[in-house]
Amino acid sequence: MPVFVSKFGGTSLSTGERFLNAWDIVSSDPNRRFVVVSAPGKRFRSDEKITDLLMECAESQKRAAFEEIRSRFLHIASIAGVFIREELDACEEEIFSLSSKAHAASRGEFLSAKIFAKLSGFSFLDAKDAVFFKDGKIDEEKTGSAILKVFQRESKIVMPGFYGADEKGSIVLFPRGGSDTSGAIAACAIRADMYENWTDVDGVFDKDPNFHTDAKPLSFLTYDETERILDKGAAVLHPEALFWARKNKIPIHVRNTFHPHLSGTKIGQ
Ligand code: ASP
Repeated sequence: MPVFVSKFGGTSLSTGERFLNAWDIVSSDPNRRFVVVSAPGKRFRSDEKITDLLMECAESQKRAAFEEIRSRFLHIASIAGVFIREELDACEEEIFSLSSKAHAASRGEFLSAKIFAKLSGFSFLDAKDAVFFKDGKIDEEKTGSAILKVFQRESKIVMPGFYGADEKGSIVLFPRGGSDTSGAIAACAIRADMYENWTDVDGVFDKDPNFHTDAKPLSFLTYDETERILDKGAAVLHPEALFWARKNKIPIHVRNTFHPHLSGTKIGQ
């Protein structure tokens, strides 16, 4: 049976309704058995991403700064119909006791994945137990075998993006936007038939849609063509995610969570 890794970006998970929409997408295809999530992103243009709020909170070390984060997650959880209070309390304590900015910043993805796991019944796989860094770089072998082992046992997994752990177990972050990379690494580890990158645009466009009203999403691109488009600054996919997928010949499918009926852009050889 084919298996897809489905990664959902921050805009696609910025509200409870959007979590429900993401779950609708996942549950509509039994091949979608490995989900990777970002932290809730912006709900509207002037909004703040949860990751930025967490970083500000870690910097200021003010308890009051955690309140907005708490209320955003409680609202999402109530719409998703799940409880998240205990996990929120634990995260708050960690932020103020561990004084690790990376650990604090990773809690957005952690809590997103906890909510998605409760909503879907998928098993939660903490990225600190699955994505390993050595001397600042991904330990490909250790990461690959850890993810594969859990997947073979559990069969339906949700994993937070954006972070992993070093040899001592401390949290290490990918660069911003790095949940794309986590998804690609998971897809490589389980030899997925497709890495789906669910985002907030209709695919990879032929021209910059911010400047050209006639820009259209392309239905197929090679890895090379995609690399050239990303080099020009398109933010649709993290270049590191493309690197891993290409290295392991995993096809990528960029799709819009808000228009799941559209065919998006397929990327391959
Ligand atoms: N939440 C992180 C960020 O805002 C990572 C991600 O969304 O991919 O950059």
